[in-house]
Amino acid sequence: MKMPFKPSMLQLRRQSVKWIILHHTAEMYDMPSARIDNEKYQMKDLVSGVLEKKQGDINYNFVVEKIKEDYNVFVARPFPYKCVWGDISNDINNRAIHVACLGSYDFKIPPKRLYEVLAYRILNPFMHMFHLSPSRIKFHRDVSDDKELTCPGDFFDYGIVESMVRKFVLK
Ligand SMILES: [Zn+2]
Repeated sequence: MKMPFKPSMLQLRRQSVKWIILHHTAEMYDMPSARIDNEKYQMKDLVSGVLEKKQGDINYNFVVEKIKEDYNVFVARPFPYKCVWGDISNDINNRAIHVACLGSYDFKIPPKRLYEVLAYRILNPFMHMFHLSPSRIKFHRDVSDDKELTCPGDFFDYGIVESMVRKFVLK
């Protein structure tokens, strides 16, 4: 099914980007395909979650999912539009890009290749474009008011994100 685009439901980001927030999709969309990243194409299943929740678009700017043997990055909500996160202060959210890994990393260890794809295809290009240091990349749980939140999953390792970002730095 093709999602009808409703840009009038979305808000443009008026301030420059200062933060990149990492998520997993299990927190937002509760169909099984948003909770387990298998080798099939699953982005289309997030669309039914969007329609169910009457959102203007997928509530992440980018989604990373595995298809067959490798991870792919999809543009979800175009990045000039803000995502809606009531648990993140406006100081941060008004200046944030949101990137989600499909699935849940509360139960699964993110493979090295997922970190590589994140850094090379998304994090490093945006850090370069907006002059962000690695400290501007945050896990959702670290910028949330919700102290119980695990997003992007208990097994996501910030140290590995940092080392991948240093490996793929654009210079
Ligand atoms: Zn999250």
